[in-house]
Amino acid sequence: MSVVDRQEWDVVVVGAGGAGLRAAIEARERGARTAVICKSLFGKAHTVMAEGGIAAAMGNVNSGDNWQVHFRDTMRGGKFLNQWRMAELHAREAPDRVWELETWGALFDRTKDGRISQRNFGGHEYPRLAHVGDRTGLELIRTLQQKIVALQQEDHRETGDYESRLKVFQECTVTRVLKDGSRVSGVFAYERESGRFFVLEAPSVVVATGGIGKSFKVTSNSWEYTGDGHALALLAGAPLLNMEFVQFHPTGMVWPPSVKGILVTESVRGDGGVLRNSEGKRFMFDYIPDVFKEKYAESEEEGDRWYEDPDHNRRPPELLPRDEVARAINSEVKAGRGSPHGGVFLDVSTRMPAEVIRRRLPSMYHQFKELADVDITAEAMEVGPTCHYVMGGIAVDSDTAAARGVPGLFAAGEVAGGMHGSNRLGGNSLSDLLVFGRRAGLHAAEYAAGLTSARPPVDDAEADAAAAEALRPFSAEGPAPGQEPGRPPENPYTLHQELQQAMNDLVGIIRREGEMEQALERLADLRVRARRAGVEGHRQFNPGWHLALDLRNMLLVSECVARAALERTESRGGHTREDHPEMDRTWRNVNLLCRLADPVGDPAAGDPARGQITLTRETTEPVRPDLLALFEKEELVKYLPEEEL
Ligand code: FAD
Repeated sequence: MSVVDRQEWDVVVVGAGGAGLRAAIEARERGARTAVICKSLFGKAHTVMAEGGIAAAMGNVNSGDNWQVHFRDTMRGGKFLNQWRMAELHAREAPDRVWELETWGALFDRTKDGRISQRNFGGHEYPRLAHVGDRTGLELIRTLQQKIVALQQEDHRETGDYESRLKVFQECTVTRVLKDGSRVSGVFAYERESGRFFVLEAPSVVVATGGIGKSFKVTSNSWEYTGDGHALALLAGAPLLNMEFVQFHPTGMVWPPSVKGILVTESVRGDGGVLRNSEGKRFMFDYIPDVFKEKYAESEEEGDRWYEDPDHNRRPPELLPRDEVARAINSEVKAGRGSPHGGVFLDVSTRMPAEVIRRRLPSMYHQFKELADVDITAEAMEVGPTCHYVMGGIAVDSDTAAARGVPGLFAAGEVAGGMHGSNRLGGNSLSDLLVFGRRAGLHAAEYAAGLTSARPPVDDAEADAAAAEALRPFSAEGPAPGQEPGRPPENPYTLHQELQQAMNDLVGIIRREGEMEQALERLADLRVRARRAGVEGHRQFNPGWHLALDLRNMLLVSECVARAALERTESRGGHTREDHPEMDRTWRNVNLLCRLADPVGDPAAGDPARGQITLTRETTEPVRPDLLALFEKEELVKYLPEEEL
């Protein structure tokens, strides 16, 4: 038995980003003994990278804003595939969550009259993003971390132990959610530094592990984004929803190669930055789709006037939702009008004084100066699309964040599906983390407290199987059956690179049927080879071993993305099919659900060449009539099938 330690908690939260920390605070405040476990250092989650801000209809800069307008923008951005109840809760509750952060010590930028300042972002009708320069995520995490420490101090005063009711296990990776029958019983994890295994027993587990970007070659995402939570849920029997929707942010750095993909925040465009091609043309005016025509400026003059007088002018098309801008950039580059390094130009230098740029966009200024030797106050940046966010995720109940079909499992943040439909608006993730992180923590605590029978016990055999699975890379066989002997085990780094290349080239921003079929074949080959992924050395901090374990997750999640993308024969939001370029109303109410094909839940069992994922369709719940009434009928006609109108 490899398991050396077991601890009992009421709620275990996997992930210490915005969603995980907010969930943990809520669970602890509701009386649940709560453990937080994270791969990275406490305070270093991916959320710290968030730049632009938190979307919340506080109406501080334009009093016309309210939750209904935010709801409308979110549904439009998601092309009406959003789980509408989530979009409603999110729009209604986001302002309270931002205010709450201030009461916990966050300090947002202010308007001249001292209110929380709000900035423009793509797809948002009014200035809506509460921000701290372009370092909003850092402030958000700092504040939540501070709140956790405050709660621990409170517990110390009462119990003499800081960690009696709320404990953080940092630099630990969860590899399995454990179950007793259908119910959650805990998690299996290892310490990254020592390789030591341990089990946290708990009837409620909140998955808040973020996204999947590390399966793609060009990405803005951090090393943590290997789709662990998506895979943990699949393996535990929960379905993933609409995994075909992956957001390619229009503006990532394209040069030098070592920094390709790093994000250039949308605030650059929100604050006045414009996109130009190699001919100097502001090309976005050529790419306004019909569904957005009435809302966007027709001329540069009108677009420019909007920054000063938004009530009497329409916004510039640089502020269209991200999917539209990313596709437009892709088309310009393909047409030979790109920048020298395969992107387009994003210019603030001719739009704002140098001192304003340095004040409003300090991180961007330093990022370009230090990484690319470009002074953005004097010259344009070169930018291109980068894999940024996954809209697909664990299928959850809108109100409770409970994962479908697995009692005791909850999910919040980027790992959860539904909220953003086919495309997320900028700023709507940080608010999503707070709104649904809180709800997940609340319902996880209530579920644990409400258990009437004994808690689900952790089965020794299941924990042993998880330990054996984690140790497999140390005893990887060389050649697969039927292959020539004498070949060394596969290198996990090589496999990862090949996976990233395949996903980037074959299931990337523009998709074609033949290429996605090819991707599925490559994934099957990679799965066979990943069985033989071997590592040398021992369990003390061994990054090769960590990657070998992460590969299981990336391969599962990538198969979900490829299968769902092949199935959805239309273009919508973050999913663009060259062979089906139109948005099709008959797909508007169709969700695609991915489940593990092997009910035993062991991707290493059976034949890895076979697909591991089965895909089913389901019809979405019709939008509640009072919410539909927030839209003009002429607009709805563009999205909804006849029977829904
Ligand atoms: P994360 O913050 O990623 O946290 C995930 C946690 O899970 C981490 O602690 C990680 O260590 C842990 N974890 C993962 N796997 C495991 C495992 N197996 N075991 C244990 N722990 C695990 N959104 C906005 O709304 N506004 C913005 O301005 C904005 N800017 C962005 C800028 C950049 C550069 C990027 C990349 C994204 C930006 N986003 C923004 C998106 C937003 O930051 C993310 O969607 C959001 O932070 C995700 O938060 P989360 O809590 O779901 O996950």
